[in-house]
Amino acid sequence: MTKDRQIQIDLPRDVREILAALRSAGYEAFAVGGCVRDSLLGRIPDDWDITTSASPQEVKQVFRRTVDTGLQHGTVTVLQSGTGYEVTTYRVDGNYSDGRHPDSVTFTRSLAEDLCRRDFTINAMAYAPQEGLVDLFGGRQDLADGVIRAVGEPERRFSEDALRMMRAVRFSAQLGFSIAPETFAAIRELAPTLARVSAERIRVELVKTLLSTHPERIREMYEAGLTAVFLPELDACMRVPQNHPHHVYTVGEHILRSVCAVRADTVLRLTMLLHDIGKAQTRTTDENGTDHFYGHAERSAEMAQEILRRLRFDNETREKTVRLVQAHDRMIAQTPAAVRKAAAKIGPDLFPLLLEVKEADLAAQSDHCREEKAEAIRAVRSLYEQILADADCLTLKDLAVNGSDLIRDGARPGPGLGKILGALLEEVQEEPSRNTRAYLLARARELRGMSRDPGNA
Ligand code: ATP
Ligand code: MG
Repeated sequence: MTKDRQIQIDLPRDVREILAALRSAGYEAFAVGGCVRDSLLGRIPDDWDITTSASPQEVKQVFRRTVDTGLQHGTVTVLQSGTGYEVTTYRVDGNYSDGRHPDSVTFTRSLAEDLCRRDFTINAMAYAPQEGLVDLFGGRQDLADGVIRAVGEPERRFSEDALRMMRAVRFSAQLGFSIAPETFAAIRELAPTLARVSAERIRVELVKTLLSTHPERIREMYEAGLTAVFLPELDACMRVPQNHPHHVYTVGEHILRSVCAVRADTVLRLTMLLHDIGKAQTRTTDENGTDHFYGHAERSAEMAQEILRRLRFDNETREKTVRLVQAHDRMIAQTPAAVRKAAAKIGPDLFPLLLEVKEADLAAQSDHCREEKAEAIRAVRSLYEQILADADCLTLKDLAVNGSDLIRDGARPGPGLGKILGALLEEVQEEPSRNTRAYLLARARELRGMSRDPGNA
């Protein structure tokens, strides 16, 4: 069945108006792709894409306010009540031999040809009020069955654009669907060709998978051979056992479970994905057969740095993730002073995230001492909440004196000054009531007197 007039999708007014304007100018026009899929699933689409028989020039003649977003790919953004809608001419794509853009784009007047170039049956449906649903490849049935299936012959479709292999797993993770066996078999076969795809495009799909409701589907990327291309470090972990009372899973399984246990936030999910990534390289087994991973947090942080650079993550995401990976295993004693120091060390902005990381890490470990470990994290959190409520001084920025104050008070500029400020901060971290100018200046004088550094005589 191709057209189904029984199905009604509630189109937003802007979209109805755009379709109507194109139609009254004599062209075909449909809502297409993700918005049709999401509507049929009863989800609210993020954005509405429109496909039309009109050429980009013709689209521009129909609407007064347009932006040339990607004319060479046939896309014009139409501004309707202040919102932009992408209107794309029916097209047939060539190969993506550079892994970034189709080599060629040919416009066509056939909706069927446009739907053929789309990746999966559930993404290849179009809808307009007059025609109802246009579903040439059984997308509706696959939606009902929860299946991701390539449009046409999967090997061919993945050879045209290898990123589609990542997209298959990404949609399966977002929707909780399974991948059709022929489609999965083709991914297995062609996974090495993902190497042709740019890091940026891979990163987008990885992040969407991590933030989905089923990030554990990264296991399918591993099983299919996709992580071997963009995250071989994870493959190594999937094969590393952890013979230790705190653990029951291989490093890789522990990693995947910890990813699921943390809130859906890019930095947090990336941190869990990478927190133990250095374990494959740091494992030693003692004479009792127990495994140890000394220095794994440092090693994981170094590797995270390299991996996130390679995948072209922005600096802020990379830096936060690396800091959290590095700190994930640090013990924090349950005293206010220890919590202030730990928060200052990683930075007050990241400290609450560090506690979430520790909780997720614990959730993916064995039951051994679980309750005590959970209680320790809760105690640290409540100490931290009290510290925030009291607005205690945590970092040099909050200290009641700074370097210029000390210099005005007779200290000499130089490295000795930094040491004194560090010592003052530590005293205040121990006892916040010491954070007054009078106390700190007096202490600084004492410290200068004690110092044998001639620069601070
Ligand atoms: P979402 O926006 O929620 O991530 P989506 O389905 O809208 O999901 P987009 O990446 O926005 O996904 O793409 C819009 C549509 O374009 C898809 O539904 C699909 O029909 C088509 N499409 C996108 N990328 C590809 C691709 N690499 N190969 C084939 N078709 C694609
Ligand atoms: Mg979209």
